Amino acid sequence: MRTAVIGGGIAGLAAAFELEKARAGDAAVEYTLFETGPRVGGSLASELVDGIVLERGPDSFLTEKPSAIELCRELGLENDLVGSNDAARKTYIVVHNRMVALPDGLMFLVPTKLIPTALTPLFSIATKARMALELLHPPRPSQNEDESVASLVGRHFGPEAVDRLADPLLSGIYGGDAAQLSARTVLPRLVEMESQYGSLTRGMLAAHRKMHAKAPANGAGQSKRAPRPIFTTLRGGLQQMIDAVANRLNPESVRLSTAVSALEKLPNGWKVYSQGAAEFYDAVIVASAAWSAGVLLGPVDPLLGEELGGIPYSSSITVNLVYDETKLNNLPDGFGFLIPASEGRAMLACTFVHRKFLGRTPPGKAVFRAFLGGMKNEALLTETDAKLVATVRRELKEILGIQAEPEHTQVSRWRRAMAQYAVGHQERQKRIAARVANLPGLRLAGNAYDGIGIPDCIRLGRRAAKELLAETVAIEV
Ligand SMILES: Cc1cc2nc3c(=O)[nH]c(=O)nc-3n(C[C@H](O)[C@H](O)[C@H](O)COP(=O)(O)OP(=O)(O)OC[C@H]3O[C@@H](n4cnc5c(N)ncnc54)[C@H](O)[C@@H]3O)c2cc1C
Repeated sequence: MRTAVIGGGIAGLAAAFELEKARAGDAAVEYTLFETGPRVGGSLASELVDGIVLERGPDSFLTEKPSAIELCRELGLENDLVGSNDAARKTYIVVHNRMVALPDGLMFLVPTKLIPTALTPLFSIATKARMALELLHPPRPSQNEDESVASLVGRHFGPEAVDRLADPLLSGIYGGDAAQLSARTVLPRLVEMESQYGSLTRGMLAAHRKMHAKAPANGAGQSKRAPRPIFTTLRGGLQQMIDAVANRLNPESVRLSTAVSALEKLPNGWKVYSQGAAEFYDAVIVASAAWSAGVLLGPVDPLLGEELGGIPYSSSITVNLVYDETKLNNLPDGFGFLIPASEGRAMLACTFVHRKFLGRTPPGKAVFRAFLGGMKNEALLTETDAKLVATVRRELKEILGIQAEPEHTQVSRWRRAMAQYAVGHQERQKRIAARVANLPGLRLAGNAYDGIGIPDCIRLGRRAAKELLAETVAIEV
């Protein structure tokens, strides 16, 4: 079986890794990984500067989703996995230029602890009263209609909870806009809780009780293992994972600086066009962004092309600033802060990288990673590096009082890199899956479909390859 993998981001690499494992044991398996750019990795890109790991794109992945850690283990990177320093975990929301810590007991945007919620300066008295009354919210019959995250959170906790909680958290993760993101896709647990309990707070407390009831009460039989860290990364940066996968691939199977320009469906396979030539493949895994997949697949199936092209994407910018730590006075403890759109700032979030992951920044250095852009501020992408650094420095001065000169700065732009799961996303996914099922030998992978994070992209890439390999075996049998 000859397979073309289009796109060398983490999803395409994961697919190629699976195909390479099959090729190593069976000469009949061949593959080509096509990548437009001069390097593989897509959004994952880290650099070592004076012994400091600087991440241009993502800095870590969720530990509870196993696919990334499994891949790292298979690549022999187990000893380089680093968990987040959760003991120091504390996140702030910037309100009128002040850093306000997220109150204790917040679970998936839902306040579950009375006293911290009552005492926090994050919300007005009116919002706190509304949060208390939320306990009386009646169950809502299962809805057929999806709604936005802002609509779900707003119905339960009011507009201030959307502005100061839901929107900054989601724009910090998805570069997204709570008014557009699908509640059913992004917060499926809350949608389920609403139909069962009415009140999200009661639903969350019940889930919490259930979880504790499952754990042995007196610790008998409990392992002594420390709780898993929330985030995991690699000592040398996520680039380590990219390099390790790339090193496993057959060098002759990887074509860098080679964009696929068109696809054609043949009765028994696919024609893949690149650099003015066409080649025959039995199967194709399209692991480029959905907007690019839509351009390639539109001529094959116009409706599929339209659905793929209709998935919105946001663009973002990361700005890393390295400081001499002794020059930063009174930096608050914790991992960093998020900024609501209502504050009118360019920054959406800022991570204190040296606190989040220990051992990736030498002692005495501090690294701030600012995140800008998102759905509401795409225009920032056209600003110069110098202007972006100046903007971040001005905002850090206004929020944290930092006047010191950074020792090093690094700006990275990510155009249309992050898919947005907009209202109606699941219905769109069903329509896409139905059309793909009518095109034998085609699979889609990447962040536009069933999870935006690195583990989901790895899972989808590997699954696409495994499914195609299984189909070949079935045909041979
Ligand atoms: C700034 C930023 C921060 C993030 N932070 C996190 C985080 O902390 N944790 C986390 O889990 N996730 C994070 N994410 C999300 C995650 O990194 C991405 O969702 C994931 O890396 C996407 O991988 P992908 O393979 O689907 O796509 P991409 O990485 O976009 O790769 C697609 C590749 O396809 C190539 N391509 C496109 N068209 C063609 C063509 N016609 N022919 C050949 N090649 C083509 C592109 O050049 C690109 O290299 C972040 C994303 C960004 C941008």
